Amino acid sequence: MPELPEVEITARRLDEALAGARIESSLASGINALKTFDPPLHAIDGQAIAGVRRRGKLFVVDVGEDLSLLIHLMSAGRLQLWDKRASLRDKASRLLVRIAGGESELRLREFGTKQRAWVKLLARDAVEADDALASLGLEAWPEPPADLAERLAAAGARPLHGVLRDQKVIAGIGRSWVDEILWTARLSPFKRGDDLAPDESTALAGAIRDVLGGALRRYEEVVHLPIPDKLPLPLQVHRKQGEPCPRCGTTIEAVHYEDYVMCYCPADQTGGRVLKDRRLSRLLK
Ligand SMILES: [Zn+2]
Repeated sequence: MPELPEVEITARRLDEALAGARIESSLASGINALKTFDPPLHAIDGQAIAGVRRRGKLFVVDVGEDLSLLIHLMSAGRLQLWDKRASLRDKASRLLVRIAGGESELRLREFGTKQRAWVKLLARDAVEADDALASLGLEAWPEPPADLAERLAAAGARPLHGVLRDQKVIAGIGRSWVDEILWTARLSPFKRGDDLAPDESTALAGAIRDVLGGALRRYEEVVHLPIPDKLPLPLQVHRKQGEPCPRCGTTIEAVHYEDYVMCYCPADQTGGRVLKDRRLSRLLK
């Protein structure tokens, strides 16, 4: 799932290419992808794209003077600029925005069989009040919230691995980057968010800043148009179970959940303890 660094670099590249470009026509081809009907999608036809930006893990495409497309990729969506127009048989297409004066097309596509990615066309001054943004916590980057420790404490006795992915607490972090952040901060994924010592919350804030900022610096060097389907995530521990920790050489361990895997270094993060792998323990029952 694209998280803050992936959405941010994509928004930057799309903004560079599309700011000022005029929209020729638009089409919501995915069933139920367009979640709003007033104003109608065709209200953007003939208008110029004012810019493309990010909020949390969402895109905002500002159109003309007062309209904005709010786009959520969910787990399997991609927002890409193509230099050829989509075949109408492309079943992955959810939204097509054809750019005037050529063949290029901004396209929301979604892989897999589920249709969960969505688009809303909103009055620009209503964007921040939309449910998807109004509930977002403060952005994780470029500076994590100054009151991060208080926010985590207020979220209750929840493990860091979960609470840091709660977009209402802090916006932009998901399953990939949370592993990297906790490894960088040398904190256990199951440490409770309301049980952090001052030096631990300082380390956590620093890790959020460094890991997300580092990913973006890397993407600035290597990600160009056309945006690839899979960005080259510069990961050190996530999905690296069985490999040596890049910092201490200890074997990276994993806890498997139904549809994702959490990775950590026991020596650096859990006092040498290998956490119970729920998948394994279920198999052994
Ligand atoms: Zn290690």
